Amino acid sequence: MTARILVVDDIPANVRLLEVRLLAEYFEVLTANNGPDAIETCENGKVDVVLLDVMMPDMDGFEVCKRLKSDPATSHIPVVMITALDQVSDRVRGLEAGADDFLTKPVNDLQLMTRVKSLVRLKSLTDELRLRASTTRNIGIEELLSRDFATEDAKPRVLLIDERKTSVERIQKMLRNTAELDVATDPNAGFFQAAETAYECVLISTAFSDFDALRLCSQLRSLDRTRFLPIMLLADEGEEGRILRGLELGINDYLIRPIDQHELTARLRTQVRRKRYNDQLRASVAQTIEMAVIDGLTGLHNRRYLDSHLQTLFDRAVARRRPLSVMITDLDRFKSINDTHGHDGGDDVLREFARRLRKNVRGIDLACRFGGEEFVVVMPDTDGAVAEKVAERIRAEIAQAAFAIGADGKAIEVTVSVGVSSLLKGTDSVAALMKRADLALYEAKSGGRNRVVAKAA
Ligand code: GH3
Ligand code: MG
Ligand code: MG
Repeated sequence: MTARILVVDDIPANVRLLEVRLLAEYFEVLTANNGPDAIETCENGKVDVVLLDVMMPDMDGFEVCKRLKSDPATSHIPVVMITALDQVSDRVRGLEAGADDFLTKPVNDLQLMTRVKSLVRLKSLTDELRLRASTTRNIGIEELLSRDFATEDAKPRVLLIDERKTSVERIQKMLRNTAELDVATDPNAGFFQAAETAYECVLISTAFSDFDALRLCSQLRSLDRTRFLPIMLLADEGEEGRILRGLELGINDYLIRPIDQHELTARLRTQVRRKRYNDQLRASVAQTIEMAVIDGLTGLHNRRYLDSHLQTLFDRAVARRRPLSVMITDLDRFKSINDTHGHDGGDDVLREFARRLRKNVRGIDLACRFGGEEFVVVMPDTDGAVAEKVAERIRAEIAQAAFAIGADGKAIEVTVSVGVSSLLKGTDSVAALMKRADLALYEAKSGGRNRVVAKAA
């Protein structure tokens, strides 16, 4: 794993100490001796993780962290605060400043590496999503980044998996005002509950009488539906080994008992904020992909999608020696519908046509808006004779019942012409297949419209 780590400390010897250890693990290391330099480095360079000393003259670590986290250009960079004392109040202040994690001096080697590695992993996921989202200009990524999801949105739904009654009651009390908490006392039941409900964080106790909490963590990480669900481990003093093992398995954070309410709520807030941020990024990426291949008016796939997918369906049919047919439909005298009922009326017709088309094809058929008032349906595993029947059914479905358009639901007659072609044995190509369907459509038009013509194989 190569990543760039920025070490910030006002004492050169401390910087050097961390630098040597990170270099030994093949990380790239940048250094800064004060807050303003650190912020500048983050703004300019590609920093993957910041290790930030809390005690610095002039601008302390809390202030540096707060500034990094409030600037959209740097807010996604994970910050690990390094505190001199294991003071709960320092941790809480740090979490409130937006820190992602903590280490206490003297820094334990294994802990340093595990934390840095887990944050680097998380950062690379976020980077990937940011990259994909920002390649399309229409996404307000900066706005997305600057939003404080945890405070502006609803209370997070959280699942606690813990079999000890007193511990459950204590945590319920602590989170009464900050989370919608569900409880599972049985670890197996908890696993299914986590998979079935849209939780934003799961808290797992390490103290089960005959069950290994880490097994549960690894199960949650391997299941698709819970892969991105933050996991926080509730461990006991002296369980450092298990916590490290947990971090390697992908848990996101941990707390050591006795649990401090402020620390619990602050750490939970960090996890939820991160999850919401990544979920939003993921959704906007998915939405961009969808916008690129879906026709906005009808909800059918668009021509771009057809162009990229038809070849695949074609190749598959050839390889498996299975039939394949396509039909091209074109609404009759559509221009006059537009002229008579306006463009909006025409759009209503297109939407209703798409609805009837979708209703009359199978799930495995690919129905697309080819352009204007032309639609294409690709039918895998369908020979010419069957495709012709399907086309005839669609033609009849359109002609049979009038279309209701406009706010007043005015009824108008619509008809469609259809050309059908099928995959030929021997040499054939996507272009030739489409060309034959187009010729058939032309024949249907010149033959009087409202009809189907199939090109015999
Ligand atoms: P034919 O029976 O020969 O197909 O006649 P036609 O009028 O349907 O033929 P033509 O292809 O010349 O006209 C298609 C019209 O569809 C022209 C165009 O203005 C209209 N059109 C294309 N896209 C849209 C759209 O998204 N909405 C609306 N309302 N009209 C559209
Ligand atoms: Mg046309
Ligand atoms: Mg037309």
